[in-house]
Amino acid sequence: PQITTDMKTLTREVERFAQNKKLEIETLKVRENYRKEFIGNISHELKTPLFTVQGYILTLLDGAMKDKSVRKKYLQRASKGVERLIYIIKDLDMITKLEVGDLNLVKENFDIIKLLKTIFDLYEMKAARKNITLTFDIDYEEKVMVNGDKEKIEQVLSNLIINSIKYGKQNGTVEVSIENLIRNKVIIRVTDNGEGIAREHIPRVFERFYRVDKSGSRKEGGSGLGLAIVKHIVEAHNEKIYIESQLGVGSEFSFTLEKAK
Ligand code: ADP
Repeated sequence: PQITTDMKTLTREVERFAQNKKLEIETLKVRENYRKEFIGNISHELKTPLFTVQGYILTLLDGAMKDKSVRKKYLQRASKGVERLIYIIKDLDMITKLEVGDLNLVKENFDIIKLLKTIFDLYEMKAARKNITLTFDIDYEEKVMVNGDKEKIEQVLSNLIINSIKYGKQNGTVEVSIENLIRNKVIIRVTDNGEGIAREHIPRVFERFYRVDKSGSRKEGGSGLGLAIVKHIVEAHNEKIYIESQLGVGSEFSFTLEKAK
């Protein structure tokens, strides 16, 4: 009888071991697929600007170099392509850090209005090209002190504002508003009256590399990582991000932040 019990225990142990191994293998497979997909996406993102740069260089080597004005124009375009590559690589670096949780938030108290003014100054030209007006729905002189990682929050706001301009309509508006919320929080909203997002795409726009219009947004020059980065940063602050959007009407992205202590 003793032996039978031991055999039973042993069989159970073996089964448990096998089950654990199976789970481990499945997890590894999921991770491996995730890694492959990520690498596939990266190569895809890098290919377009790289081919553009190569195209200009080859044309220059092919004789375009002789003409001074053409030479300058092509070099400028090649340089824009390189700029784009750097931008994508910076975003990739950021998303990798965010996804492995390797991001140390350096929290401080800062005036979010002041930060928004610098961001507005930075993107005013970009907005002007589409005749988009950037506005605040708050008193310009008012200070709103919040607590968070200023550099990262700057990236959140920049990404949301850039998107509102990119997907905003000609002669449209982009408005940033800040409102007090209960329990020591503010909510910051970035609203545009641009192309909007169809209902079925809304839940997916925060996924990395997800784009509604595959060709359109690439032409606009994003990395497809902007909103994924935004979501990670907001959540790393233990805050929430919301989206409301209607096709043809516009979009509103909002997130909460803690007020300065
Ligand atoms: P991208 O580099 O493509 O802009 P993002 O992660 O910033 O990448 O955004 C993902 C997708 O979400 C965009 O390709 C676009 O389809 C959609 N999107 C983001 N912001 C807006 C907006 N303000 N209005 C309409 N569509 C938007």
